[in-house]
Amino acid sequence: METPPQDTPATGFDTLGLTPALVSAVTALGYEEATPIQRAAIPVLLAGHDLVGQAGTGTGKTAAFALPLIHRLATNGPRPASGRARGLILVPTRELAMQVAEAVHKYAKGSNLPVVPLYGGASMEQQIRALRRGAAIIVATPGRALDHLRRQTLELGDLEMLVLDEADEMLDMGFADDLDAILEATPTTRQTALFAATMAPRILAVAARHLRDPQRITIGREKRAAGKLPRVRQTAYFVAREHKLAALGRVLDFEAPKSAIVFCRTRVEVDEATDTLTAHGYSAQALHGGMEQRQRDRVMQLFRSEQADVLVATDVAARGLDIDHVSHVINLDVPSAPEVYVHRIGRTGRAGREGLAISLAEPREHRFLRNIQTLTKQKIDIQPLPTVADLEARRLESTHARVREILEQGGLDRMRDVVLALAQDFDVIDIAAAAVKMVHEAETTSALAATHVPAPGETRDTRARGEKPTRERSASRARRTADPDDTAWVTLWVGAGKRTGIGPGDLVGAIAGEADVDKSAVGAIKITDGFSLVQVDAELASRIIAALKHTKIRGQKVQVRRDRA
Ligand code: ADP
Ligand code: MG
Repeated sequence: METPPQDTPATGFDTLGLTPALVSAVTALGYEEATPIQRAAIPVLLAGHDLVGQAGTGTGKTAAFALPLIHRLATNGPRPASGRARGLILVPTRELAMQVAEAVHKYAKGSNLPVVPLYGGASMEQQIRALRRGAAIIVATPGRALDHLRRQTLELGDLEMLVLDEADEMLDMGFADDLDAILEATPTTRQTALFAATMAPRILAVAARHLRDPQRITIGREKRAAGKLPRVRQTAYFVAREHKLAALGRVLDFEAPKSAIVFCRTRVEVDEATDTLTAHGYSAQALHGGMEQRQRDRVMQLFRSEQADVLVATDVAARGLDIDHVSHVINLDVPSAPEVYVHRIGRTGRAGREGLAISLAEPREHRFLRNIQTLTKQKIDIQPLPTVADLEARRLESTHARVREILEQGGLDRMRDVVLALAQDFDVIDIAAAAVKMVHEAETTSALAATHVPAPGETRDTRARGEKPTRERSASRARRTADPDDTAWVTLWVGAGKRTGIGPGDLVGAIAGEADVDKSAVGAIKITDGFSLVQVDAELASRIIAALKHTKIRGQKVQVRRDRA
């Protein structure tokens, strides 16, 4: 639905007082106009004021502080290269450090201001070398910045400007003391900007302690919501709470998304949903605040590089991450706060692509949907959950398309010989149908797909008999894996065997080394001439498959998949 454009004054970057080099850098990036936080913050920072800024995810905060920072350093004139930083941006996570450093690097193109990211889990030596070469702008996580300060490989005595990005998240992660220690090492003459998604009292306390007479800028969320949504189609299915996980599997099977984020309210839900999807054959990865940073980085890397097709996340864990290629956002619940919903679905439909947002709503969440529609002035299409028959029809369509594609590619001579031989005994149409069946069944592996998901209101008695609800299944899985003597195993098929000269040691080594899992995650191994079967811990299977796909065993790339026998 169209929302009328708001009356705004000139909104180009050339009206903000930035150097021509910066204006052309953002123009080259395809930014047509400054976002509200950029329009409000850039002049304030250029005038040398301290700033406290509040704006939601995806509102363009990075440019709002990075452009004035680069402007300031560029117009103050270059300094001799030393280890001494002139601008410091502190961010909560390694992922954000990389992301922000990359953005700042792009904005600083042509300004001759080297940008160096510093985060944990990366080589200290390499970072020290980069600092020695001369780093004008540092983007760092507090822990690693403090490490370098203590080793005196980072020197902040000449710092001209400091930015605290996602300050609320840094406090949530327990960096308060680190921040104080870092700030203490900087000159009081520095300019300071603090950005956060909320203005909780503890944020204001940090501002009061470290900022000088800051100007406060708050960007309301509704405005952004109206302007940001149009490319996302929105659907909701009503599903009773106890059938949500089964419905989730069904929806994913039906949509066959290229890349999806599933949002859950809690960590427990994240784990349950990840389990269900893994059992469905998806390469699903969990992302929540209970995970170590190293694990989170790995998950994000798998998802970004499209080795994992589904990311299952809590709102907090997904906050601040800028991911471009997401085709589907699926809400396991309807958030009661419309802003949360808008944030979630804003993860798809980016960079001009079409996106689809699907919400699994309990009947009682109906009013949340209504509120959201009122606020965003956009329609959410309420549909019945796709049935097993719909799913089967959709799959047949896809098999049809695949067979067609193969026919069009040609090169079927050897296969024609097989058909000719069979044609002595069978009808040609039947032979073709059998081959199509093979393709179709190979694609249709999902065990839970046939799980009956009753519509709300449907009674127990009408439920199909003999099926275990998904909930029970995942609960029993969790119990089993909790006991180390009773790990749940799945079998992987690896496309290399005796003929390739492969031995058990190669397989265990590749799995333990590349997937970074313990050797105990590998069970029985069977090696035949042409392939191998390896039992692995079911919980780690997705990770192991993803890692092996990018590894060579005995110098060869190998195919790896779940064994379907
Ligand atoms: P935030 O930090 O507020 O979550 P980011 O700074 O990460 O947001 O920006 C989100 C996305 O919007 C990035 O892909 C960025 O390149 C893009 N972006 C930022 N400013 C603009 C603008 N003025 N016009 C178009 N895209 C922009
Ligand atoms: Mg940001």
